[in-house]
Amino acid sequence: MAQPPPDVTEDDCLPEYRHLFCPDLLRDKVAFITGGGSGIGFRIAEIFMRHGCHTVIASRSLPRVSMAARKLSAATGQRCLPLSMDVRDPPAIMAAVDQALKEFGKIDILINCAAGNFLCPASALSFNAFKVVMDIDTLGTFNVSHVLYKKFFRDHGGVIVNITATLGARGQVLQVHAGSAKAAVDAMTRHLAVEWGPQNIRVNSLAPGPISGTEGFRRLGGPQANKILASPLQRLGNKTEIAHSALYLASPLASYVTGALLVVDGGAWLTSPNDIKLLADFASFSAKL
Ligand code: NAP
Repeated sequence: MAQPPPDVTEDDCLPEYRHLFCPDLLRDKVAFITGGGSGIGFRIAEIFMRHGCHTVIASRSLPRVSMAARKLSAATGQRCLPLSMDVRDPPAIMAAVDQALKEFGKIDILINCAAGNFLCPASALSFNAFKVVMDIDTLGTFNVSHVLYKKFFRDHGGVIVNITATLGARGQVLQVHAGSAKAAVDAMTRHLAVEWGPQNIRVNSLAPGPISGTEGFRRLGGPQANKILASPLQRLGNKTEIAHSALYLASPLASYVTGALLVVDGGAWLTSPNDIKLLADFASFSAKL
């Protein structure tokens, strides 16, 4: 077990804070993680499970989440239920949440991590391409939160962490679709935190910066490569750093935090240049989808 810092002993603590000294920050909790079969969502599942949590990982591809669940359980010894579910399909979400509740009897934490993205200038974006990203990121986050609220959180409390981005903060080029979708989710975080706080539901956003070894960075990272060295910490982030931040928000460490946006990007959003010359590279780009 991890030792408390030398200047503070467990005996100095009020009993209600004892759990903060336990490395199993999520012992016996259950987390429902959309997009948990890959990238950042997978690492969040792993870190949560290493802290004693059971997980449900849900996305469209059953083979992907099934293989991920096997790996996660083998590595951590915790239970992981893989479910096929599209966040745009409310009946499928209801069925998945019912199955998760049948399996575990409760859900304590929801991580809304499912998303889709690609680079495209606004002028080349089809109406449908913009809608698809809004549907997955924004409506998907609302759909899953709404179902979980009605089926469990309203009566038992809970924690929601929405994985967003800082794209909309300064109007990133080639990202009007994802920037708009994630900004809407950040607003949703505040609205739901206010409406659902009285039911003991905390709702927060976590906005990663460029994260190595992810599909997101593979798709979007090229044009960002030079900017990363110009950011305050001068490096990419890694998935574990995002998962530890999600752990903080989901755990009792953040028991008084709700309606907040935690930016985990090495300070990049404060300084990174937004290179509008990149638009020229996409001059002949055809409409997406
Ligand atoms: P990723 O591996 O592609 O994760 C996205 C996940 O969402 C996939 O597991 C995918 O699984 C699932 N998904 C997509 N559409 C879905 C749908 N309609 N219904 C259910 N699940 C769906 O990407 P990532 O890079 O780790 O990104 C994870 C999150 O971090 C995203 O919210 C992203 O916007 C955010 N983020 C990432 C970065 C970065 O640098 N990577 C930076 C800022 C923010 P299926 O294909 O099986 O459905």
